[in-house]
Amino acid sequence: MDLRYWQSFLKDKVTEYLKNGFLVSLQAPTGSGKTLFSILVSFQVKPKVLYVVRTHNEFYPVYREIRKLNKTYSFIIGKSSACPFVSGDVDPEDIKCSSCEIYNSAKITVDESPFAFIKKIKKDGVEKGYCPYYSLLGSIEDSDLVLITYPYLFLPYLRESLDINIEDFAVIIDEAHNLDYLNDLQERKLNQNIIQLAKNKVKNSEVIKILDKLEVEIRKSVFSDDKYILMDNYPKLTEDELDILKDEYELEREEAVKQKKISRIYLGNILKFYTSLSEAKVFSYKGSLVSKPLTSRDMLSILNANTSFILMSGTLPPIEYMKKIMGIERRMIYIDVEKEVKSKITGNYTCMIATDVTSSYSLRTTEMWKKYASYILKIYHLAEKHILAVFPSYMIMEKIMNLIEVRKFVEKDKTNIEEIMEKTKQGKTIIAGVARGKLTEGVELTMEGKSLISDVILAGIPYPSVDDFLKLKAEQIRKITGENLIDLLISVPAYISVKQAIGRAIRSPEDKANVWLLDKRFDNIMWKTKLRCYNPRKVKL
Ligand code: SF4
Repeated sequence: MDLRYWQSFLKDKVTEYLKNGFLVSLQAPTGSGKTLFSILVSFQVKPKVLYVVRTHNEFYPVYREIRKLNKTYSFIIGKSSACPFVSGDVDPEDIKCSSCEIYNSAKITVDESPFAFIKKIKKDGVEKGYCPYYSLLGSIEDSDLVLITYPYLFLPYLRESLDINIEDFAVIIDEAHNLDYLNDLQERKLNQNIIQLAKNKVKNSEVIKILDKLEVEIRKSVFSDDKYILMDNYPKLTEDELDILKDEYELEREEAVKQKKISRIYLGNILKFYTSLSEAKVFSYKGSLVSKPLTSRDMLSILNANTSFILMSGTLPPIEYMKKIMGIERRMIYIDVEKEVKSKITGNYTCMIATDVTSSYSLRTTEMWKKYASYILKIYHLAEKHILAVFPSYMIMEKIMNLIEVRKFVEKDKTNIEEIMEKTKQGKTIIAGVARGKLTEGVELTMEGKSLISDVILAGIPYPSVDDFLKLKAEQIRKITGENLIDLLISVPAYISVKQAIGRAIRSPEDKANVWLLDKRFDNIMWKTKLRCYNPRKVKL
């Protein structure tokens, strides 16, 4: 097989580190060929490979590479996507398989792309009487490579459902800059909307009475602020009330499977919120009560297991962050591919900087938002292709984008990528999103592999807000490490999200982009070094 220069150059070195028990952190940009590379070296050290991605959308590129090798593969998707009786966005825990008439598995061999194959077996499963989900689980045994999403590695109950010995596998984890946010997998949310949707399905008057009371209390107690506020006093339910809700929930689960019409059971959200509380704090966040663990350290402890792990990303956190914040204790080697081969292996960008604007808290005025809007408009007129504008928060994005009247797409809570595709077909568009949001992490605007984004605007620096959640997280980490690491908790997520945003415009070695750093705080050596913008051109309105 023909390998690129860097792949041949690093293959033996990475294999050797894996054989010697190191966790390998591989920093390589998008489009550099790291998927194929990681699979090849993994098969050098173990007979089987577990390839772990963030979302199902990332299955296809791995499938494309595995087809080039003489290896068998399979994939696991959650019940909510594999069950033929599900419609809409269902929580897998709402599905009561023990009452299903096709609760058994068939022997299957995955011989197509994941999307085509699941479509086929969902139809086939209903006709022939087998469950696609449990059949996929059964296919792991005969597969050389198994594709899964993060929850199947990091949530213990789902990992156990795979019924594998992790030590038999080399494990590749893609987009590993997201690992510090694994605690979001355990997030539980409760708000008025969820309670109303739960009530819509319920007929039992006792249950409705409990939900009515809860709805009123939640309305009175939560705040709409776009930051986490610790709640010591939040609405609670008694054991008796929880038991009544549980009985109703079980009836709904049973009925849904019998009817073969499974949709989200919102009563389940309420119950899961209250049953998760023994482990987590409760916050108010944007009109909801939210509970989740403060850190991802417990889930990440699987990385200390005795097998080969490769963490990959174009924007990995530094080793200090991985050890102290994420709690990875084992021996680790950090390989930055471009540094190793001393050359660029992907496209390039030119940096511009404006030092008369800032999103700094004390200088947030209407005049400042107008200045930002003028810069963005000017860049829009200069840009050759689409423009990605990234903001530190929804509030700042709204203030600025409301002043802009050219073709634009502004991210919302429920934005989906297809909507952006549609909008951008109409012509040059400003795509506006928040840092660490769906767009900066997931938008893939390419044609024949090349980016359709020519300009990336950083409208302010996306430092995370120092709210109750961040303070408690820092405090918990201080108790474990004995160090105050709040600066690391602020600076590392900020520069990873800036680099991620820039990466949206560089999808192939041929891509060239303009990066507009619109904040005077970018004008320092730390930012210039991290972004490799050593000599940015100063711009003015
Ligand atoms: S088909 Fe039946 S057994 Fe399979 S996931 Fe759906 S409900 Fe469960």
